[in-house]
Amino acid sequence: MTQGYDLVVRSRRAVLPDGERPAAVAVREGRIAAVAAYDAPLTAREDVDLGDRALLPGLVDSHVHVNEPGRTEWEGFATATRAAAAGGVTTIVDMPLNALPPTVTAGALAVKRAAAEGSCAVDVGFWGGAVPGNRAELRALHDAGVYGFKCFLSPSGVEEFPALDEAGLREAMTEIAGFGGLLIAHAEDPGHLSEPDGPGYAEFLASRPPEAEGAAIARVARLAAETGCRAHIVHLSDAGSLPLLAEWRARGARISAETCPHYLTLTAEQVPDGGTEYKCCPPIRDARNREELWRGLADGLIGCVVSDHSPCVPELKKGGFDTAWGGISSLQLGLPVIWTGARARGHGLPDVARWMAAGPAELTGLTGKGRIAEGYDADLVAFAPDRTFVVDPGALRQRHPVTPYAGTTLTGAVERVWLRGEAPGHGRLLRRRP
Ligand SMILES: [Zn+2]
Repeated sequence: MTQGYDLVVRSRRAVLPDGERPAAVAVREGRIAAVAAYDAPLTAREDVDLGDRALLPGLVDSHVHVNEPGRTEWEGFATATRAAAAGGVTTIVDMPLNALPPTVTAGALAVKRAAAEGSCAVDVGFWGGAVPGNRAELRALHDAGVYGFKCFLSPSGVEEFPALDEAGLREAMTEIAGFGGLLIAHAEDPGHLSEPDGPGYAEFLASRPPEAEGAAIARVARLAAETGCRAHIVHLSDAGSLPLLAEWRARGARISAETCPHYLTLTAEQVPDGGTEYKCCPPIRDARNREELWRGLADGLIGCVVSDHSPCVPELKKGGFDTAWGGISSLQLGLPVIWTGARARGHGLPDVARWMAAGPAELTGLTGKGRIAEGYDADLVAFAPDRTFVVDPGALRQRHPVTPYAGTTLTGAVERVWLRGEAPGHGRLLRRRP
């Protein structure tokens, strides 16, 4: 052998950009140096043969609320990134709200990076925020390396991160378009939202109807077309809005969308009385809507599946659906949840890798992540696609093991994870590459 590698991982089910096939992945200095035949005579310090277990690219979760600093008792970088690593997620991108200060100035980004430094098990990037009055900060945040700008069209749930009205949204999108950035929007129109009439799920669902999503998506899409700004709809719940997305894309708007494991798995019909662990905004809708979201993924209208991991202290989940904190924490469970649902609907592992690794990496511009290909970071996941397990909240590494999936049987288990060719533990803080 001419040259030795640091690591070779062999699998009869390697999930590569062009599909699933037997392969050997050779790693040197943290990067994928070669993708060779399964039985290629490669020499390495460590040679791992996964046999029939799958080898996936490390997942990229572009929608995570870490909450540190400021609300670290809800979730922090150490716990969130350990949950990520356990779930096969090797890169997360942290949302600009729920930590204090919110990431709406370059100074606030520096504070957050300092809080994260040294405590991340996986790689971490950051979103900035677009809020009323911070237009002059957007360029500085972009230059400091955020991957784009999150905004709300309706109240965000925390007063320090207010929503943009139409004029504010136009102003932000014009500015962001000027430097070729990305705007990501929580799309619920405040004009269609109301206070729930009671504490039950039915009242909560009625207070956030599908029309709220449709109206907000239409506004973002129209302004994307008008300003030329690239836009992305986070956590799409209403499948009825998919034709609208298709229509605006056909008209030239640069607009994409993501959805989340809970919208693809859980249904309004199954939410138990008082089951506020199911509460999120926009809400989980009916079973028919869920199946249409899967069709949106199959059609390519939805390009990413990301967690919207949004924890809080358990006390804030107490009470009814009208008062409890909204947010579902599924960083560690997203892969088996989605694989269980995908497999039942005839999708393969390459689809899952596209939605959960390559898709979010492309959205954010995380070059070098999300694929098993030469030159990419050696972020890899050994995955047992036929192994089943019952979700035990006690096994979750997030700070508070509150989950609507407790007791659910899932198929597919993460067995081993590599971050740049090594066991997770030394995550880096990432910046958008210019
Ligand atoms: Zn979110």
